[in-house]
Amino acid sequence: MTMSTNGRRPLTVGVLALQGDFREHREMLERMGHHVSEIRKPGQLDEIDALIIPGGESTTIARLILSNGFQQPLRDFCASGKPVWGTCAGAILLARQVDNLDRPGIETMDISIQRNAFGRQVDSFEAALQVEGIAGPPFHAVFIRAPLFLSVWGNARAICTLEDGTIVAARQGNLLATSFHPELTGDTRLHELFLSIGAPAEARRG
Ligand code: GLN
Repeated sequence: MTMSTNGRRPLTVGVLALQGDFREHREMLERMGHHVSEIRKPGQLDEIDALIIPGGESTTIARLILSNGFQQPLRDFCASGKPVWGTCAGAILLARQVDNLDRPGIETMDISIQRNAFGRQVDSFEAALQVEGIAGPPFHAVFIRAPLFLSVWGNARAICTLEDGTIVAARQGNLLATSFHPELTGDTRLHELFLSIGAPAEARRG
């Protein structure tokens, strides 16, 4: 069997492909040696080991989640214990509370998010960040019309902040949310972290 780049068994990773930058996640995961399934129908969720909800336009993705019957299947997938990661718009969709989203998303992480929080003058910026769970040099993070996490409570905790304390990544068990875009860099460390955060199979059955 061909191994992934870190020597683990290749996984089948789903990337929600309704809108947004799902291709960039696909390319990175394939470079890492994993199989990728672009998810366009809820039934495809049964065939994957982990799921990424990509960046894009959260209002559009939320609309397509509802119109394609994805809301409950995505909630069930989040509850299954398998790894789920929302990047940027994906993080907005995972949050229980969102400032300025005109319809419900998946609403499963104990975080509240403000969309487009950095204002027009800093639509995009980059920063070198320490992320809990990632060893080695700082992670180079790319922010594009990014949201910020206003608060994190309950089972969620912040795992990365900007220098001024602004929260830009959080984790809640098997769920990960980042307001930046690791798929746009060559650094696979956050994708590796994501694939390691699932609950063991026994815990999932319990
Ligand atoms: N500004 C977008 C939104 O609020 C998110 C941007 C992104 O995913 N890069 O939906």
